[in-house]
Amino acid sequence: MTKTLAVAVPGPFLAPLDYLPPSDSPQPPIGSRVRVPLGRREVIGIVTAERDQSTINESRLRAVTRVIDEAPLLPTSLMSLIAWAARYYHHPIGEAYATALPARLRQGQPAVPGEQTYWRITTTGREQSADAWQKRAPRQAMLLQALKDNDALAAGDLAGLGGDARGALQRLVERGFAEAIKRSDYGTIQAETTAPAPVLNDAQATTAARIMPGEGHQAILLEGVTGSGKTEVYLDAIARATEMGLQSLVIVPEIGLTPQLLSRFRRRLNARIAVLHSGLADGERLNAWLAAAHGRADVIIGTRSAVFVPLARPGLMIVDEEHDASLKQQEGFRYSARDLAVLRAHRAEVPVVLGSATPALETLANAAQKRYLHCQLNERAGNARPPSMQLLDMRGQPTQEGLSQPLITRVGEHLEADGQVLLFLNRRGFAPVIICHECGWLAECERCDARYTYHRGRRRLHCHHCDSERRIPDACPQCGSVDLRPLGLGTERIEAALEAAFPETPLVRIDRDTTRRRGGFEQQMAAAVRGDARLLLGTQMLAKGHHLPAVTLVAIIDADQGLFGADFRAAERLAQLVVQVAGRAGRAERPGEVVIQTHHPEHPLLQTLIHGGYPAFARTALLEREAAGLPPSRAMALLRAEAVQREAPMRFLRAASRIAPQYRGLECLGPYPAPMEKRAGRFRAQLMLQADERAVLQTMLEAWVPQLQPLREARAVRWSIDVDPTETL
Ligand code: ADP
Ligand code: ZN
Ligand code: ZN
Repeated sequence: MTKTLAVAVPGPFLAPLDYLPPSDSPQPPIGSRVRVPLGRREVIGIVTAERDQSTINESRLRAVTRVIDEAPLLPTSLMSLIAWAARYYHHPIGEAYATALPARLRQGQPAVPGEQTYWRITTTGREQSADAWQKRAPRQAMLLQALKDNDALAAGDLAGLGGDARGALQRLVERGFAEAIKRSDYGTIQAETTAPAPVLNDAQATTAARIMPGEGHQAILLEGVTGSGKTEVYLDAIARATEMGLQSLVIVPEIGLTPQLLSRFRRRLNARIAVLHSGLADGERLNAWLAAAHGRADVIIGTRSAVFVPLARPGLMIVDEEHDASLKQQEGFRYSARDLAVLRAHRAEVPVVLGSATPALETLANAAQKRYLHCQLNERAGNARPPSMQLLDMRGQPTQEGLSQPLITRVGEHLEADGQVLLFLNRRGFAPVIICHECGWLAECERCDARYTYHRGRRRLHCHHCDSERRIPDACPQCGSVDLRPLGLGTERIEAALEAAFPETPLVRIDRDTTRRRGGFEQQMAAAVRGDARLLLGTQMLAKGHHLPAVTLVAIIDADQGLFGADFRAAERLAQLVVQVAGRAGRAERPGEVVIQTHHPEHPLLQTLIHGGYPAFARTALLEREAAGLPPSRAMALLRAEAVQREAPMRFLRAASRIAPQYRGLECLGPYPAPMEKRAGRFRAQLMLQADERAVLQTMLEAWVPQLQPLREARAVRWSIDVDPTETL
């Protein structure tokens, strides 16, 4: 009997397919890439196992046509993590591998590092003052500073700088301030000089002592208020891992991987650091991946998919801002990088640290059940004092475009006292709706169950769900009236109101529109941090992660949009956002103040948050989830379906529900149309599964999911499974 090879190939196959070994070339080892025929095409797959026999008749088996890697590309430990993830999330195995591999390797290119360009500062450049260049060429000034701070910049580092960073760099080269060098290596950069670490305070030292690379697995929740010095604790543990010759994997949310953070890590660690994020060119991504796999990087900092990077000598895993929604992939392979990092650390027998000022309720529940060690940093590091929070009752208040009179007064006082003010509104554009004042007609997107957002700057209506745009009509298409009015608030509108109220005060608005148009989130953030702008206005881009030491007042312009969200996590998200935004204030010597505008000041969520902070909120929210039988007290999965034809998703889901295996303690709810049924021209519906036990849910899905594709009704829809969904919309 011939041996067969199990090969994970791209396509909708939940398990690897069987192939015969190649007839001529040497046998491919497990974990290597091979070319195999699939239908009429040839594809690249990964050998996942050797089998003594196949369930398929040998005459029908096809053979591997070419072996790409003579040595395994992936270690078996990583392969079993990928296989576990594919099974747990019920996603095709080949696509799980595709997520784990850099594009170059998916395309069959050799697994060797390629040549890479770096930029370095020259002696002349080092003599330049970045401040002096600030007025004339702000982007060049920023790059100059970045070059001074880092021994070299790779193209991948420029991604976060936004705008035409490459053009600006070219001009620095022309001026003789910077030079390009090419090196054929792994693309890790090690700073030549390291900055001294601060002496950890007692709370930090106690926590750091519990993170013990080289001493086995331990999952640690590091709950620390913003500015409490969590990053210093990470750096301490990473430095110890590096000294022991062990690698550290640091996973951060997309928005958190900033040049600021990278410089801080590079300056502080005597380590070779590789970076993995979506902005990298394919060659850079491959280099960083190989650096991790071959043990040429000591620290790997990356976004979500970095959880799948091979590590030669794993020693420590860190997930920063572990509550952040971007750690869960929201399409295709819907894995949670946080949960996989914990599993991976467990299997690799290394410590894992989940850090946040506002931990996810799941994580808090795990800590309460003693699965994770719960460490807390309750005080801000240095001398910074926590901000005071208060609610501003909007009922009956006269407002100026969403700003209440008391708020305007408060802003004025802080500006007067030389403070910096941050205003937060999580909605870009001028107004979320445009309405006819005569007949009540609303401008609605034709492709979505949603209203168009009015963008005054661009003079367009824009749908934030499908990205479609149209002109603003001259008159109401229903009654012909020309009295069309914007309704509700967006950042553009607040900007206009602030400019009217404080015409002399420099203001910077940071949202997806301004960072695209005016070039560069980082550049604007730099202006914000330096304090050039006294008024900072923005969406959650502004809210996350950045140190804004001069901010003395934070205003949350509209808390109400989060209070009544359709998703069961809406309250959790609102609380996290409020606390994160509040955390921007008063980081340095100045105490901060936070005001929250709301029409529902008596709302229990807001009351608990104001008086008890996030921990009190989380306790209440966990009790509510338990009472409602929602995660984390129960396990959840969604079967989603969408189609151009309205009835098709519901028909498919009803058929799926009919064949759903029954288990005690497991319920199948629905199907029901999604809260926003139509999006981008497709109708969406879902079926919700809830179970007392995660294992029961998994058993059920294992029996059920393979039966879905063969359903006749499946042909008319696109469907997907979402295990542990983080949004149910
Ligand atoms: P977090 O990650 O919790 O937001 P950081 O680690 O970024 O906090 O620390 C906030 C600020 O406090 C930083 O400027 C940091 O350099 C400083 N800091 C942290 N720990 C200490 C310490 N032990 N002594 C002095 N300064 C510290
Ligand atoms: Zn009208
Ligand atoms: Zn739309």
